[in-house]
Amino acid sequence: MADLTFGIIKPDAVKAGITGSIIQRIIDDGFRIRALKLIHMTLKQAQGFYAVHRERPFFPGLTEFMSSGPCVVMALEKTGAVPAWRNLMGATDPAKADQGTLRKEFGASVGENAVHGSDSDENAAIEISYFFSQIEIV
Ligand code: ATP
Ligand code: MG
Repeated sequence: MADLTFGIIKPDAVKAGITGSIIQRIIDDGFRIRALKLIHMTLKQAQGFYAVHRERPFFPGLTEFMSSGPCVVMALEKTGAVPAWRNLMGATDPAKADQGTLRKEFGASVGENAVHGSDSDENAAIEISYFFSQIEIV
């Protein structure tokens, strides 16, 4: 699944009504949306998704937040999709994110930072298959 990455429009951004603005920015940046749906994760599903962070102090807050409301999950295609999507998102901490990035514009804090993106091709494949079946990827 090279040149595919996985993204989430997190509950803070969906709640703020900026889902459409973020999707437009994704399209304008040249990504092709291969899969997209609105879901509301259970705490268990959020814990499974962020299992790599389970020993971190922020894990309980992170998984509670990610299961606090609906979010939009997406499979995105572009050449070099993983770094391209992380570039568009910006740094994890919105205060440190570059101008023009989604987290700079829409993120409120390290915890509530509007979007998620995979950090490697390997994790992109794992994360896409966590949320989408083959028939949902067009
Ligand atoms: P993401 O995986 O969501 O795309 P990231 O790869 O930039 O973000 P990670 O280190 O993977 O950052 O952390 C995952 C998520 O955990 C972050 O997006 C953020 O919401 C939360 N997080 C990370 N560090 C902290 C922290 N120090 N305090 C609170 N939340 C944090
Ligand atoms: Mg990460």
